[in-house]
Amino acid sequence: MATDITTDRLRELAETRPAQGKVLSVFINLDPREFATPPARATEIRSVLDAAARSIRDRDDLTHQERAGLEHDVERVAERLRGGTDTEGARALAVFASESAGLFEVLRLPRPVPHRVGIGDSPCVEPLAQIGAGELWWIVLCDRRRVRLLAGTTDGLVELWRQDDEVSGRHDQGGLSQSRYQRGIEKEVDDHLRAVDGELQRRLRGRHLAGVLLGGPKETVAHLEDLLHADVRRCVRGRVDVDVWNTSADEVLQAAAPVLGELIARRDDELRQRIDEGLGTGGRAASGLGDVLTAVHERRVEVLVVQDGFAAVGIRCPRCGWLGVSAGAQCPADGTMTEPVENVVEAAVAGTFAQDGRVRYLPVDDADLEQKGSIAALLRF
Ligand SMILES: [Zn+2]
Repeated sequence: MATDITTDRLRELAETRPAQGKVLSVFINLDPREFATPPARATEIRSVLDAAARSIRDRDDLTHQERAGLEHDVERVAERLRGGTDTEGARALAVFASESAGLFEVLRLPRPVPHRVGIGDSPCVEPLAQIGAGELWWIVLCDRRRVRLLAGTTDGLVELWRQDDEVSGRHDQGGLSQSRYQRGIEKEVDDHLRAVDGELQRRLRGRHLAGVLLGGPKETVAHLEDLLHADVRRCVRGRVDVDVWNTSADEVLQAAAPVLGELIARRDDELRQRIDEGLGTGGRAASGLGDVLTAVHERRVEVLVVQDGFAAVGIRCPRCGWLGVSAGAQCPADGTMTEPVENVVEAAVAGTFAQDGRVRYLPVDDADLEQKGSIAALLRF
């Protein structure tokens, strides 16, 4: 079964760099508006994998061993996806494979991404940043016996978990008095809500969420919120009014969208404000590509803010990983001759994940960010 995107997993992926061999990254668009039926999806998957095989063939900088490893990786991916279970409910898939690194992972994505094949020294995580693991919301729908957990952004939700803890029936036999019967039911409801809390705690461990919305009958939701563990409760940002059980992920999103939109806007405002304060006081913020890259290298980035579509060529020190913008320069730290990087913004995004930072993409028409050089960062120190 495919796993779902989390900040943790992104960090690990961003840090994966096999000592030998290359990493194959494949992004497959499964937008249900375009690929509604299983055959359409299967065709789409096949065509992306054909493209992957072609790009491996066309690369002339691979050793024999690297090429053989990649070819085998494509076969492994094809075989895995043939079953079709990974694609259920996904708007897109991200697949990372590297036999030599012991890496094989299929991630279900909550929103469509364009097709893309990457062959590199580490997994290509930048398209995942656009979905924003640190920007991921949870929606927990819960009534007296059932629960659903959905995760995603305003672009789409994926259902992660659903359970029906049949409350009931057992107490109507055996001649229990009405009040004992009622107490039994209440005990079961309470057990159900505690189990929900336990599962949410487990799933939340070590993860960063933008926030959690709760939905369901008012009284039950209030009860649930009361008994939530502090770690989970502190993520609760609001409520959503929607049928707990008989709604599609899209219907849930539709109901949640206005609340999410408002919360996200508020979050962005806070972020801008903190960055402006930091820049104003010469404190914990950086703007412009050069300064931001330095901060990434110094592992100081808490939140990276990027204008959608912003890309730039740059350089990297093969020795210490220093990132810069001017071509052909030596690394200021150790004097090593730098190598070119096709898109240094992507490297900054991966670097931010590797230091457990959050990445937030703002719209391409964001004038304020454009003035700052299309990229800025809130720093930890
Ligand atoms: Zn260096």
